[in-house]
Amino acid sequence: MIEVKNLSKKYGSFLAVDDVSFSIEKGEIVGFLGPNGAGKSTIMNIITGYLSFTKGSVTVDGIDIIDNPEAAKRRIGYLPEIPPLYMDMKVKEYLYFIYDLKKVKFPKAAHISEIMKLVKIDNVENRLIKNLSKGYRQRVGFAGALVGNPDVLILDEPTVGLDPKQIIEIRELISKLGRNHTIILSSHILSEIQAVCKRVIIINKGQMIADDTPENLAQKLSYDNSLNARIICDEKDMIKALSSVEGVMSVTSLGKAEDKAYEFNIIPKENTDVRAAVFSKIKESGKTLLSFSSNAVSLEQIFLRLTEAADNDEARRLLGTDDLTEENKESEEDNYDSDFQA
Ligand code: ADP
Ligand code: MG
Repeated sequence: MIEVKNLSKKYGSFLAVDDVSFSIEKGEIVGFLGPNGAGKSTIMNIITGYLSFTKGSVTVDGIDIIDNPEAAKRRIGYLPEIPPLYMDMKVKEYLYFIYDLKKVKFPKAAHISEIMKLVKIDNVENRLIKNLSKGYRQRVGFAGALVGNPDVLILDEPTVGLDPKQIIEIRELISKLGRNHTIILSSHILSEIQAVCKRVIIINKGQMIADDTPENLAQKLSYDNSLNARIICDEKDMIKALSSVEGVMSVTSLGKAEDKAYEFNIIPKENTDVRAAVFSKIKESGKTLLSFSSNAVSLEQIFLRLTEAADNDEARRLLGTDDLTEENKESEEDNYDSDFQA
């Protein structure tokens, strides 16, 4: 549905997007995750046809954004970081205006009314936009993106500045829309992406440094994928027993955790899930298990670690996504400046 190939963008001499390639299938909800300044908005602006680029190509539903911008744009609903709302317009009036602007063919009143109901702004249709709360304004922006019923929705930080209740509402709306739209959603907030996306593209310093499911990203950092168990037992016997479990790499006692119980840290071999086997072993030993927890890294921890990495090569190594760069090795060695056209 969306095909981005070797995309680069320079602002003056500053390389804001650096050889980014990915493709998104119809019906996917993909999260763009990255710190502020990573290049998320720039990429989204390019895909939506609002910003030129320096190198590469972008197609939407097979249509090249440069060759046929009108047709490509018709397939995309865009909610920019700051939705371009006209404060002195009333909600319905604004959506009618967008309808005309997009030259939509559906029956006007019915189409706009349906959208207003969907994003729950039908109760404020005759209110001036300037008198609406931030949450309502964001939904009006959302409604604007939905006018014309585009297949693709590009949502740039759709929950920024909203309160927790509004965030949940917008999230639910995105999940609902995800049933029959292809969605790209950007955020620098991890829980947000984790809540609605099955696939995450991590952007850092203009480059794509990962493209995976949140779960796989966590698993790739498998050295952190350890388990902790608190057991009433003999310390040495238990280390021996747990070490004998298939797939366990090492067992360390963290010492006495409470009165009679020891806390153990169990590190599995790479890409191995030993939870069931470890649990069976403890059960078999007849000892009392007080707690058992998985230290699987959260997206939050991954993200922090990545952004603290010295450069994107180190970040990719941490993620085990070095392979992402392999095919681009040659071009990376080139001198970029000499490559670029205006
Ligand atoms: P994000 O959305 O991930 O926060 P942006 O795409 O907005 O990142 O910005 C990426 C980088 O490009 C930042 O360093 C930003 O300062 C720079 N940038 C964005 N827009 C412009 C512009 N119009 N002119 C110059 N630099 C820009
Ligand atoms: Mg941005």
